[in-house]
Amino acid sequence: MTQTFDMLVIGGGSGGLAAARRSSEYGAKCAVIESHKLGGTCVNVGCVPKKVMWTTSRIAEMLHDAPDYGFSVENRGFDWSKIKQVRDAYIARLNDIYLNNLRNANVTYIAGRAEFSSTNTIRVEDESYQASHIVIATGSYPVIPDVTGAELGITSDGFFEIDRLPRKAVIVGAGYIATEFAGVLHGLGCEVTMVLRKDRLLRGFDDSLTDLVMSEMKRSGVRFILQNSTTRLRRNNDSTLTVELNDGSKIANVDELIFAIGRKPCTQGLNLDVANVATDERGFIQTDKFQVTSNNTIYALGDVTGRVALTPVAIAAGRKLADRLFGGQSNAFLDYDNIPSVIFSHPPIGTVGLSESRAREVYGDQINVFTSAFTNMYYQVTQRTSPTLMKLITVGDEHKIVGCHIAGDSADEIIQGFSVAVKMGATKHDFDNTVAIHPTVSEEFVTMR
Ligand code: FAD
Ligand code: NDP
Repeated sequence: MTQTFDMLVIGGGSGGLAAARRSSEYGAKCAVIESHKLGGTCVNVGCVPKKVMWTTSRIAEMLHDAPDYGFSVENRGFDWSKIKQVRDAYIARLNDIYLNNLRNANVTYIAGRAEFSSTNTIRVEDESYQASHIVIATGSYPVIPDVTGAELGITSDGFFEIDRLPRKAVIVGAGYIATEFAGVLHGLGCEVTMVLRKDRLLRGFDDSLTDLVMSEMKRSGVRFILQNSTTRLRRNNDSTLTVELNDGSKIANVDELIFAIGRKPCTQGLNLDVANVATDERGFIQTDKFQVTSNNTIYALGDVTGRVALTPVAIAAGRKLADRLFGGQSNAFLDYDNIPSVIFSHPPIGTVGLSESRAREVYGDQINVFTSAFTNMYYQVTQRTSPTLMKLITVGDEHKIVGCHIAGDSADEIIQGFSVAVKMGATKHDFDNTVAIHPTVSEEFVTMR
């Protein structure tokens, strides 16, 4: 017999779980269908294990600095398998917590792979389910390029399965994942080479911040090969890889090659054509601002829509949809402007609003740029050093802030608070009118001249 629901959600990741739980709080009868592990990419192979590894590499830096602060510490080495074991155990706990949260929220959990069998019916193995509202929140998966021997490389998913620190790694790509993984591996003692098809990391972010991060990575020993690409991977007798590049050069004795060149939407096997759900030319599901697809009882949100692929964005879109469908908020939708983001690089970048070049494109000569470049007090007593750069971009005589950016230690924690101010339409005068907290990094944002 076909079970019926008010809302069926395909995908138990960040966005899907948020939509189902919020809808259920409003009294809707909801189910989540998940083919793999609850929590999706973020929990299992994304933000969570990545942040554990980033923290691990930050601890390596602090251990290095500890003698400068007067500590006598003996670093007897680093055990990758230890952190992997506790990290995996943490994720298993999270999987259980997510299951309990669903139960507590009265959301039905259906394990299995979903496909549309009609516009309002979903099949999971031999069972059929119907709903008046169906949400597609199936996420994305990493791209693997079409090069000979590509199967010898890994992606971010494989990174979290590695059971020992590679001695030598090649990372192909220039975005969030490539930058973050390069920093983690290098910080833990791996020899890292990054292969970029263009000439810089993190295109699209503010150039002065990405210049800083790239030059810090270079200074600390990450090797960059620019305007090049992999053409072939070969396995050697000693089980290492040889990586051949487009210019004819080779990188030998590589333990791991990681492709981090973007992601594609998970829509295979969903039978979107049966559901009359349209995709764009890259395969991402198209929606309007209310997350409605080309079929007005089917919605899509999160990575599968190809818009700002971040966990809090998927969650916010899911909750807004629930607010609109079942919470009586008929105009609720997610505003995709001024979404803050952090790149967990070394040092990290925190950013909200427009980059300088984008602001100039939009506002021309009306923009003003305020910067502050300095060395964090932490490094005044250490041999190791790392710079900080902060930047405010304002518009017009009113100096409305349209961009607020920082590269430097603590950027990851600083930017959230400032993003509230930017979202509220703060001006430089509002910042200047706020008394500083001393001595901190963030005080620079309210004392810039
Ligand atoms: P997902 O969380 O991917 O969930 C989709 C779910 O749908 C999956 O569990 C999948 O198994 C399931 N599914 C797919 N097809 C079907 C089907 N046919 N039937 C049933 N189930 C199906 N974002 C941040 O904000 N901060 C970070 O620090 C961060 N770090 C990241 C690090 C890495 C390495 C990666 C890869 C991503 C990172 N992200 C980060 C991005 C973040 O993980 C994603 O934006 C977020 O998980 C997207 O949520 P979603 O709900 O759209 O999809
Ligand atoms: P990104 O989109 O961030 O970056 C991928 C980059 O790889 C592209 O920008 C491109 O840079 C380069 N690239 C694309 N195709 C090729 C190719 N064929 N060969 C070589 N290089 C190529 O994707 P990621 O995979 O790094 O991450 C996916 C998404 O996950 C991110 O966009 C982000 O939304 C999310 N994420 C968020 C994190 C966070 O919040 N801290 C952390 C990790 C992921 P170019 O054009 O300059 O060559």
